[in-house]
Amino acid sequence: MKTAACLGRITPYLFARIDERRSALEAQGIDVISLGIGDPDMPTPPHIVNAMAEAVRKPANHQYPDYAGSPAYREACASYLRHRFGVEVDPASEVLALIGSKEGIAHLHTAFVDPGDYVLAPSIGYPVYSGGATLANANTYFMPMKEENGFLADFSNVPEDVLSRAKIMFLGYPNNPTGACATEEYFDRAIAFSLEHGLLLAHDNAYCDLCFDGYVAPSILERPHAKECCIEFFSLSKPYNMTGWRIAFACGNREAVQALGTVKNNMDSGQFTAVQEAAIVALTQDQQCVADMCALYRRRRDLVVEALRSIGLECTAPKATIYVWAKVPAGETSESFATKLLERAHVIVTPGSGYGPDGEGYVRISLTTPDDRLVEAVDRIRETM
Ligand SMILES: *Cc1c(COP(=O)(O)O)cnc(C)c1O
Repeated sequence: MKTAACLGRITPYLFARIDERRSALEAQGIDVISLGIGDPDMPTPPHIVNAMAEAVRKPANHQYPDYAGSPAYREACASYLRHRFGVEVDPASEVLALIGSKEGIAHLHTAFVDPGDYVLAPSIGYPVYSGGATLANANTYFMPMKEENGFLADFSNVPEDVLSRAKIMFLGYPNNPTGACATEEYFDRAIAFSLEHGLLLAHDNAYCDLCFDGYVAPSILERPHAKECCIEFFSLSKPYNMTGWRIAFACGNREAVQALGTVKNNMDSGQFTAVQEAAIVALTQDQQCVADMCALYRRRRDLVVEALRSIGLECTAPKATIYVWAKVPAGETSESFATKLLERAHVIVTPGSGYGPDGEGYVRISLTTPDDRLVEAVDRIRETM
């Protein structure tokens, strides 16, 4: 038996050592608090759960779903885009249901890259952008992503030989893990660059509805000419506490949406229609549940930012997302500092280096831990550091 060569090129799981150490500490009876995972701790709002309970009883939903998503779900996605961003898309041809946006992002490579091609990915980013390229026997060029540039990925110096073989540029703002937000001017430059070089611009917008302090994150599709080159990924996972349900959608450029749909037709048979029915309720009914989550995360953000600053760690309070991105103290690496916090405070944070080369020197703290545990974690960090 011989596995595919591309599997051998998948980067080893960077957090494996921390997981191992955590298990060892827990085996000794030590209480470890994880601030590592970006998975909302609060339950899915009851009106969405109730819609699912009803939908699951309908025999029609027990059969194969529409592969591209039910017309009603795609209409709800289009309606959300219209009301939230003033963006118009044709639900029949410019919206595609996904089994989570991770699935869509991973399959986008199959639709667009051939062996030896390049994708441009931010040097700090969601690992699937480059992992999907590796699985498609393609290469990743990491665009520098520096704090002094507001963590906006810099596509101005991509070498010509890379650019000539590049197919997709991935961006995602509000950004996981840095919490950075893009300006309209940046999006306009990215669109102009993509059009000039014949790239598909894939914008991962998983956090647009988790904003604070009056900030309202945009869709890249609001920008002029975006539909000529952009596909955008939206996920119900984070705003509606639905990570386990696996429901998201892609929208934007028709050719890109159709190409992704063709790949998916040959890979999966769509998401359970009952889940889509519940998602329609999430997207089209009262958005108070999302506002409540924003208030909760903002409170937790302030708690964490204040605690980090009190022990001398630099961090910017993010205007969006569910993460705080902090600089490690001088003399530490991402991993040495994360290890120190685990050994001394029994608190897990994620080493920034796990998100790509420019993540070195930072750690990510997730705000998806119940308040009392978060307070305790912060107290422990304060006491031990
Ligand atoms: C959580 C997350 C996703 C994945 O969302 P799913 O819809 O649950 O697959 C995609 N991109 C980023 C940046 C994320 O943080």
